[in-house]
Amino acid sequence: MVTHQPSTLAQLHQRLRAGGQRLTPQRMLILELLDAHGDHISAEELFALAQQRYPYLNISTVYRTLELLRDIGIVAETDLGNGVRHFALLGDQRHHHLICLQCGYVESVDDALFDELRRTLRETKQFEARIDHLALFGLCADCRDQSQGGQAAGMNQG
Ligand SMILES: [Zn+2]
Ligand SMILES: [Zn+2]
Repeated sequence: MVTHQPSTLAQLHQRLRAGGQRLTPQRMLILELLDAHGDHISAEELFALAQQRYPYLNISTVYRTLELLRDIGIVAETDLGNGVRHFALLGDQRHHHLICLQCGYVESVDDALFDELRRTLRETKQFEARIDHLALFGLCADCRDQSQGGQAAGMNQG
């Protein structure tokens, strides 16, 4: 049984209002479902959950709500590499992902890694980068070892 943290939801509601948005039942429901889910979820999965409570809810309402929440910085939208847009509540602790293109390995990394990048962009470009939830694609340690082995073998042959 997931224990609810009304203070967290209340904070989210406040942030929505602070963003100049009305607190509609649909928006409250979607925030509540995202909070209870606690992980990345696709709009379709979220829609299925929401429909259990509001059978007449339209999927375009879910998309519009998620996009609004994303625009005011409550929700992060990321494509984790499978072409499906995933949404997650942005908590106090931001995180990002390293995703292996070869084996699909996913690792979460700390937000502090990007402080330097933010500062550099601020100082050199006067650009305030909004790095909410980043997916970086590449090769994991295992796959990198394998591909380096492959390259070395190729060089020997060639
Ligand atoms: Zn994430
Ligand atoms: Zn890999």
